[in-house]
Amino acid sequence: MAHRCEHLSSELYHTFNVRAGDTVALVSPNSVDYNSAFHAVLKLGARVTTANPLYSAEELRLQLDLAGAKVIYTISAFEELARKTAALPSPSTGKVESIGVLLADRPLKVGDKPVPIPSSEQGFIKGRGDDTVVVPFSSGTTGLPKGVQLTNRNLITNLYQTDSALESRQSDVSIAVLPYFHIYGMTVVMNGMMLHGAKQIVVPKFDIVSFLELLQKHKATLLFVAPPMIVGFVKHPNTKLTDTSSVRRVLSGAAPLHRDVQKMAEEIFSKGTVCQGYGLSETSPVATVALPGVTGSAGALIADCEMRIIRVGEQEGGGEATEGIDVAEGEEGEIWFRGPNIMKGYLKQEDTDKVMAKGGWFRTGDIGKVDVSNEHLIITDRLKELIKFKGFQVAPAELEGLLQTHPLVLETIVVGIPDPLDRGCELPRAQVALRPTATEDDIKNIEQTLMKFVEQHVAPYKKLRGGVRVVPAVPKSPAGKLLRRIAKAQELEHLKEH
Ligand code: AMP
Repeated sequence: MAHRCEHLSSELYHTFNVRAGDTVALVSPNSVDYNSAFHAVLKLGARVTTANPLYSAEELRLQLDLAGAKVIYTISAFEELARKTAALPSPSTGKVESIGVLLADRPLKVGDKPVPIPSSEQGFIKGRGDDTVVVPFSSGTTGLPKGVQLTNRNLITNLYQTDSALESRQSDVSIAVLPYFHIYGMTVVMNGMMLHGAKQIVVPKFDIVSFLELLQKHKATLLFVAPPMIVGFVKHPNTKLTDTSSVRRVLSGAAPLHRDVQKMAEEIFSKGTVCQGYGLSETSPVATVALPGVTGSAGALIADCEMRIIRVGEQEGGGEATEGIDVAEGEEGEIWFRGPNIMKGYLKQEDTDKVMAKGGWFRTGDIGKVDVSNEHLIITDRLKELIKFKGFQVAPAELEGLLQTHPLVLETIVVGIPDPLDRGCELPRAQVALRPTATEDDIKNIEQTLMKFVEQHVAPYKKLRGGVRVVPAVPKSPAGKLLRRIAKAQELEHLKEH
């Protein structure tokens, strides 16, 4: 890996002119080279921004623009996407810029020596703790996806904070199926397993049958998963036929895991423990991890991180003026964190100001309470507008912006509804008010039309799987602010009745 890393670093430096402070976009499913590419960029003191390879070229181009990425690292299967993206004009300047495409899945010739990089240019040596090194994208509490600036210190601290809760060791074996491009896969699996030189079986896509086969074959000890995968284990007939006795710990994160599902998973992995972790891209990501044996909780606070539960609705916005009032012990409120794993900020200061409060507290936009009997956090709701489909973020504002460009749509609100098939995720659903020009036929076919329209422009996980409903007007405040909670309540009521 080190050899591969040196080659990629050298190529990025000499061929693509990447220097300290530049940004490289990693656009790839999990592969054994991902880790080398990640560290090859960091070695130069440059930044990594990660994206889902299922993005459309438009989605990807926007992220490159916001992150200021000048090179796309990918593998052959996604070369077409990378080239198409690189040829699109920048959404901010309207000009086609020179964006390099580095295809990494080429064999190295044995004995190949990379062209050396001057030692003065190696960021790894001169990198500082507060340099931004990774820029994943998250929609935060409101609006469109934004670049989250994570520093060397954020990532390294969170590796150790998480490790002290998981107690990984060199003999551990994990199936690396969570995408490395998501912060959970990146910190906890890709780098977390490397911390001890533990083994990762790298898998590009989740398939339950092959996952169970790999688990048994490689005697996996640590499984990092998201709730829909656990639902899959619980329902699949092959689970019972699999020897799971090697598994000592299953950690579920990225979305809520239902207590009953957790209990069923505990029976499947009866020789080990099944627990939840909770966090955000902005917390690098882990903030809480449950102790073995604690069910239905998002976890206990990790080391060197502070948490407050704050009364909701007393203070809007953020910034130094926002102090927050703590709820009484055990009561529900917004979860705030402070600690060395909290992001440096979003790429834009005005976005950062909205989520940071007085004294360096970060507002998560999640609602929870502390179970006083064991000091574990229970997540109860979400204050922010984010929708999570299979652990992936769907920003309602993004889909609303897209729907708004459709000629039939006058106004729209997108909300998340529970999955009727109980797969442990939420489904994006749109309320739309149509323009007066819409004909009866248009109205009759509107759901199909808009679902297809969205599908053509975004990554598959952002599709309007929850459907579309026509309303005379979407709920708005007198000032014109979209009232998402009301729209969501209306949709839940409507679905109950129909
Ligand atoms: P991301 O930045 O993509 O990791 O998304 C972070 C968001 O995922 C959090 O703010 C929560 O809303 C949600 N989330 C992550 N882990 C959990 C969990 N264990 N229980 C409930 N929600 C979670």
